[in-house]
Amino acid sequence: KKLMSNTPTNNSNIVLYKENMSIGDLAKELGVSAAEIVKKLFSQGLMVTINTPISYENAEILVLDYNKELKKEETTDVTNFEQFEIIDAEEDLVKRAPVVTIMGHVDHGKTTLLDTIRKSNVASGEAGGITQAISAYQVKHNGETITFIDTPGHAAFTEMRARGASITDIVIIIVAADDGVMPQTREVVDHAKAANVPIIVAINKIDKPGANVEKVMTDLSELGLTPEKWGGDTLYNEISAKNAIGIDGLLENILLVAELKDYKANPNRYAVGTVIESRLDKHLGPIVTVLIQNGTLRLGDPIVVGNAYGKIRTLKNSNGEEITSAIPSQPVEITGINEVPVAGDKFMAFESEKQARSIGEERKKQARLKENTSKTVLTLDALFSKIQEGVKEINVIIKADVNGSSEAVKNSLEKIEVEGVKVNVIRSSVGGITEGDVVLAKASNAIIIGFNVRPSNSIKDYAEEQGVEIRPYNIIYKVVEEMEAAMKGMLDPEYEEKVLGNAEIRQLFKFSKVGVIAGSYVTDGIIKRDSKARVMRDGIVIYDGNIGSVQREKDSVKEVKKGLECGITIENFNDIKVGDIIESYEMVEKER
Ligand code: GDP
Repeated sequence: KKLMSNTPTNNSNIVLYKENMSIGDLAKELGVSAAEIVKKLFSQGLMVTINTPISYENAEILVLDYNKELKKEETTDVTNFEQFEIIDAEEDLVKRAPVVTIMGHVDHGKTTLLDTIRKSNVASGEAGGITQAISAYQVKHNGETITFIDTPGHAAFTEMRARGASITDIVIIIVAADDGVMPQTREVVDHAKAANVPIIVAINKIDKPGANVEKVMTDLSELGLTPEKWGGDTLYNEISAKNAIGIDGLLENILLVAELKDYKANPNRYAVGTVIESRLDKHLGPIVTVLIQNGTLRLGDPIVVGNAYGKIRTLKNSNGEEITSAIPSQPVEITGINEVPVAGDKFMAFESEKQARSIGEERKKQARLKENTSKTVLTLDALFSKIQEGVKEINVIIKADVNGSSEAVKNSLEKIEVEGVKVNVIRSSVGGITEGDVVLAKASNAIIIGFNVRPSNSIKDYAEEQGVEIRPYNIIYKVVEEMEAAMKGMLDPEYEEKVLGNAEIRQLFKFSKVGVIAGSYVTDGIIKRDSKARVMRDGIVIYDGNIGSVQREKDSVKEVKKGLECGITIENFNDIKVGDIIESYEMVEKER
């Protein structure tokens, strides 16, 4: 869906019909007196006044008398405005500042770097005295503005992305040279790559004795971030955040990427953007930090923020100064809305307070409804229809028991191509499936493949709650086969095991013709003739096959219930002993 300003019609023969329009309104549109219309309708037997609403049908006939044509006004429902793609004419677009987020392993220097950049680059005269009011700020370097956003971590970054809030243009990955690439560094790389934003590497703490820049470069190259000087295309900076070394170079690289990407926005439209953080003040009410992503936000603008609404009462820049308007890429603090939104919520300013209120209230209503319905992101079964809808890449996260297998699964999946659709592995690593994997999967619409690893129950529940599918496998060709089948839309039905009951073998009867009959006692559930059977000895499965027959006394029966004795044979298996347990189970088709 596209969001464009209503194009007024130039055709003077067309009269616009608006919902609930009155006789008076129509007369105005026609350029005649209301009395004239009232008279006309009277003559047709309609008792109306100037304020009576006129139906579309009646209006249609009426305008014909004036040689005009009636058209219904096309009103766009902007209740779910975040789903609209905003279209701006090329000539309305002007340059905007790049929005940068710094991420990295804890203690690698993110906070110090944010501080150093801010201190050394706020406009002269302001420096020192300014305490940063909000978790985002802007600096000027070589005359260009850069916006920095301090997200509380990459999980929050991805969670925001999961909700469709991509606020970052460029990610800086900070790695301490003395510590090297750590697990969180790897995660950040995954997240940034999944978000498809340019990455700039800052190797920090080069002043420290143990600093090993080469090692960081080698390790990051393995993650696909090969430095330019080694023939790759990732920009690297060697810095000391604490001693303010190499900061200019880093800022220059940001501006370089920005120039290449040519970030633009249209300041001449109602503002849209995203909530970065929010809190409730006892006196001022909700205080919200937002990033303006397009348009200009002005003092007094009616606004919808998430499911809240209001009118901009105060507007402050990141230095805490009162301002009257804010432009794209600018982070600002606002007050004046009726409820506290959450980070990642989108906002949009409107022309009228009435519209903002009705949209805000409608969104609140919809949100309440949605709370009870679960949401599905992507399942293998849904793949085919996604593909038919035009999805060209299937995102997958692989978690495996050992490095070799995660690599192998990755390689084989990446080879699959079905009618132009490919598998895109956004993370492949060793270890159990974590909450972080589920968050990333949700954000990226990905399926998680567990190779020889199974999710814990709590992760399973969490994934289910989030609508993320986890598929466990232990054979590589199965992964490939099922993925291919799903992409072609021919996934075989999936079965799951249902245990029917257990019987304990108490006595053996051997017959030359039928083999060994297990004289058994059903300890729970039922033992069914047409079911599968497992023979267990000391808790270990020694045979897995089918029940041959079940009999009571001399009669063959369909099933025997708990508390009864019976004779059981196992198809093609006679090596049973007294004390073995026979488990009767079935494979039932899983609901999809
Ligand atoms: P964060 O957890 O990534 O935000 O890391 P901090 O910015 O809090 O930094 C962690 C520690 O590393 C602090 O004690 C900093 O003073 C120190 N640190 C940060 N940058 C440098 C640097 O360039 N050189 C040295 N020697 N220490 C640094």
